[in-house]
Amino acid sequence: MSTARRLLTFLAPLRGWVALAALLGFATVGSSVGLMATSAYIISKAALHPSIAALQVAIVGVRFFGITRGLFRYAERLVTHQTTFRLLAQFRVFFFAAIEPLAPARLRQFRSGDLLSRIIADVSALEDFFVRGVAPPLVAILVAGLTWVLMASFALPLAAATLGFLALAGIGIPLLTRRLSRRSGRAAVETRAALNVSLVDAVQGVADILIHGRKSAQQGHIRQLSRTLVAQQNRLAWVNGLNAALTGLLSNWTTLAILLIAIPMVSAGDLDGVFLAVLVLAAIAAFEAVLPLPEAAAHLAGSLAAAERLFEIVDVAPQIQDPAEPLPPPQSARLDVRNVRFSYSPTAPPALDGISFSVAEGARVAIVGASGAGKSTLVNLLLRFWDYRHGEILLDGRDLRRYRADDVRAFMAVVSQQTHLFNATIAENLRLSRPAATDDELISAARQAEIHTFIQSLPQGYDTVIGEQGLQLSGGERQRLAIARALLKDAPLLILDEATANLDPLVERDIMATLRAISAGRTTITITHRLVDMAAMDEILVLDAGKIAARGTHAELMARGGIYRQLWTQQRQIDLLETGSPAILP
Ligand code: ADP
Repeated sequence: MSTARRLLTFLAPLRGWVALAALLGFATVGSSVGLMATSAYIISKAALHPSIAALQVAIVGVRFFGITRGLFRYAERLVTHQTTFRLLAQFRVFFFAAIEPLAPARLRQFRSGDLLSRIIADVSALEDFFVRGVAPPLVAILVAGLTWVLMASFALPLAAATLGFLALAGIGIPLLTRRLSRRSGRAAVETRAALNVSLVDAVQGVADILIHGRKSAQQGHIRQLSRTLVAQQNRLAWVNGLNAALTGLLSNWTTLAILLIAIPMVSAGDLDGVFLAVLVLAAIAAFEAVLPLPEAAAHLAGSLAAAERLFEIVDVAPQIQDPAEPLPPPQSARLDVRNVRFSYSPTAPPALDGISFSVAEGARVAIVGASGAGKSTLVNLLLRFWDYRHGEILLDGRDLRRYRADDVRAFMAVVSQQTHLFNATIAENLRLSRPAATDDELISAARQAEIHTFIQSLPQGYDTVIGEQGLQLSGGERQRLAIARALLKDAPLLILDEATANLDPLVERDIMATLRAISAGRTTITITHRLVDMAAMDEILVLDAGKIAARGTHAELMARGGIYRQLWTQQRQIDLLETGSPAILP
């Protein structure tokens, strides 16, 4: 389906509104034509000194059209914008619903600035599609019909000439415009997107840019893009100017043509001279309907390019597809991983290469290994962010892929290395995992995560706004909120994915103690490259280059030596350097 057709399908539910907008647009231009025609009639007729009674109808006409023109214009603007905003609202929801299943596996191929630009700039560019691309052509067609009827009631050649010029202005000039502006229209959309990407990049990476002295390079790059955008917009403006000039020229030629046809008719007595001005002014007023068309054509290219960029994301097949007949949600947290092999792309080396292990209900299992060993990949598979093809992961004895992805995720609570705190209150941030949680449940989760006292010490307590525009929290506080959030979810399987990785060793020790307390008796998978608190684990799996290199309890693995003991020794030396005491080990 072409992009334009696809966009039109979004208008289908708004058919009534579109028709109303077009009718009101037609009524506006129709009133202009009526106003001009009746005014011309009065002036011409008055020159002949008739009795005032002969002008009465026309005077009423002028008043009527003068008032309705304003009213219809106002109503038309109102309805057009109403339609557009409904369309955009509907489109945004559609777009969000379409990209949500793509996260995170498929969305990685798009940069965040680019996504932002698509969601904001491209969606608003669609505004042009309706306001300029759909409604005006409909109005122009209706007005052309009216003009034909009006002119033909005097003489067919008049109707033919006027319509011919209207068609040239309404079809010929837009085609020319489209030809001249096609490339710049598209290019402008792309440049604007590139500019957004650079700006978002620059804002997000401002610290790194300053540290590495790249300020002027980055500024230069942004300036360059701005210049390109201005050049492209200049060209579009130039084309617009050309349109306006050509349309003016055509409307004047129409006047000339009408006079050339009508004056001989007046001389021959076939037409009352009073109507000469009526015809000319009515035709000029009808041009109002084709005035927006060239600009519409210029914007159409931009709108379509924007729509294409949006559909491009929507059309990416999601990584994960729910089964046609999903199993009911799992009951127990027993997990069996059997011979799972996984690569991020067909050409990439396997990130997991034949992994097998089991986690019994209530057991605490640690998966350790150096950076790049495949630990996060395992979490991605468990959470159904990526799909595996080889081997199987059984939850409650059945393959993960046979459940709905949402059911699987509802079964797991994750505390990860990076916790996103939304720009909202603490309570709202905590309730993310369970919106229906009561205040008591909230407080109990915060108590267990040992952050309740801190929250209470804040001026607004649980209603304190945190996140980007709110209170800035320390790493430890953020992680405690993440823990409280996970506890509130009360999912059967708790996954701690490098939950203490970014903390300094002393804070880490405190949080580890909290985690040890909350994970007692709870099925827990701890993913870490730091061998802290290992003695508390029922089993430790040592991952190395996607394979399980060793497994056992802390004591067994230490006795056996090898890679585990090596990792542990390194860890101990680092901690000694950082804190001067090995107190937090094992
Ligand atoms: P760990 O969590 O143990 O540090 P990862 O699971 O993140 O290791 O990485 C395992 C391997 O998979 C690494 O070689 C890494 O480069 C690769 N990898 C991780 N994430 C992606 C991704 N999104 N796309 C492609 N390769 C990835």
